[in-house]
Amino acid sequence: MEDWVSLGYLLSAALFIFGLKKLGHPRTAPFGNQLGALGMLVAVLTTILSMQLEGDAEWVLIGAGIALGSLIGYVMAVRVEMTGMPELVALFNGFGGAASALVALSEIQKYIDGGTIPTGLELTVTMVAAGLSALVGWMTLTGSLLAMYKLKGGVSVFGKWIKTPTWGPAWLNPVKVLLVIAVAVLIYLSIDDPTNTTYLWSIIGISCLLGLVLVLPIGGADMPVVVSLLNSLSGIAAAFTGFIIGNSALIIAGSLVGASGLILTFIMCKAMNRTLADVLFKSFGGSGEKESLTRTKVGSDPDEVAMMIDGAQKVIIVPGYGMAVSQCQHQVKEFADLVSEKFDTEVKYAIHPVAGRMPGHMNVLLAEANVPYEQLIEMDEINSEFPECDVAIVIGANDTTNPAARSGEGPLAGMPIIDADAARTVVIIKRSLSVGYAGVDNDLFYMDKTMMLFGDGKAMMTGLNNAIKEI
Ligand code: NDP
Repeated sequence: MEDWVSLGYLLSAALFIFGLKKLGHPRTAPFGNQLGALGMLVAVLTTILSMQLEGDAEWVLIGAGIALGSLIGYVMAVRVEMTGMPELVALFNGFGGAASALVALSEIQKYIDGGTIPTGLELTVTMVAAGLSALVGWMTLTGSLLAMYKLKGGVSVFGKWIKTPTWGPAWLNPVKVLLVIAVAVLIYLSIDDPTNTTYLWSIIGISCLLGLVLVLPIGGADMPVVVSLLNSLSGIAAAFTGFIIGNSALIIAGSLVGASGLILTFIMCKAMNRTLADVLFKSFGGSGEKESLTRTKVGSDPDEVAMMIDGAQKVIIVPGYGMAVSQCQHQVKEFADLVSEKFDTEVKYAIHPVAGRMPGHMNVLLAEANVPYEQLIEMDEINSEFPECDVAIVIGANDTTNPAARSGEGPLAGMPIIDADAARTVVIIKRSLSVGYAGVDNDLFYMDKTMMLFGDGKAMMTGLNNAIKEI
């Protein structure tokens, strides 16, 4: 029967690996997701089977856990708005890290109660793995909770809105290093005295503090890096725990999440023109204060913009977070179809790697509206096309088009942007002149060649499409 358990874990690991491979392309990604979910189902069933074999399957506890977890997960997933997805992902990362750390903690408790290590590992190995699992897991929980509130912008306490702070003086960096050293010393001490729970509780407390201290200074436009790093850490915590309980599926799945999250983190760093050390120790994001606006700009109307687009040979659409908020991706696709059929205009989409609030946010939305993948062009590739572009239509994008990023100062300093300002005419659809996530005023709005269409993305795109139909 034990062979079936090994086979079950092998099958689930294979499903995770194939699922991950399929996630590599938007067309095959939904199938990849299903394979991953199936892998997780096989892993859960195999674990229950192995517990049954060992005679310690607590059916009431297992059933209650699955029912409660499924109910909470279902309600959260059904109720979440598309714009709330990044916060939900951050929360799930945190729960993943904490769950792994709790399992590791329970194994140590078993040792304290029974005097033997259930998996037969050496005590030193178990204590080091448990300490590292606690460090990474609890740090991921508190870091992710803070990241979630940073993405939200704040928290409502008794009806009062309290903004999430961004704070990171230079002296905080040595504190971070000292906290890591303290955890290493505590893990070392716990090896000699494994039944002394003071060490373990101290590791948990310091790790929770470390998560907060690491995320607190990160603001401005650097949050995508921290979210994907926390995702990676939740996988690493799971791998450590898999090691402690001797579960190969957990080691493989945890390592996959850890490695792929780390790769994504470095991709994000490259997109932001930062190193990981810069993000973690230099707090580019500044104080998190938003710039106050003093300038004004007169808005245009959809008819005026439609007349200008009539005759354009090339239009590049630059989507951003506002497209996700207004859910206007279907109207955007309708616009692209209309102008290419009616005016024979070439239409492309410029995709910034950190547009929106999660990696791939724009790709997911535009794929949902059946925009052909070939039209979605990455920033590095499309930027050279803007000088020959008649009209750049910026829909709810702000930081990712802000020329202030080229200045080398402020929260956006050094971040590569979409060169929409190089197009002959720029149309910007957003509700006001207000700043984006990083809080920096955008010179693009005030350029002579820029037409502002003030209003909700969906309403403005619908108006624009109607105006084009009437031409
Ligand atoms: P921004 O956050 O810079 O700006 C979005 C703009 O959308 C706002 O200025 C807002 O202006 C407008 N908007 C909001 N609601 C609507 C609406 N209903 N209709 C029309 N417009 C609307 O977006 P970008 O995509 O350009 O940049 C993303 C930012 O988020 C970057 O700073 C990035 O670093 C950060 N980030 C990205 C993550 C990722 O993984 N992609 C994760 C975390 C942060 P107005 O209020 O005037 O309408």
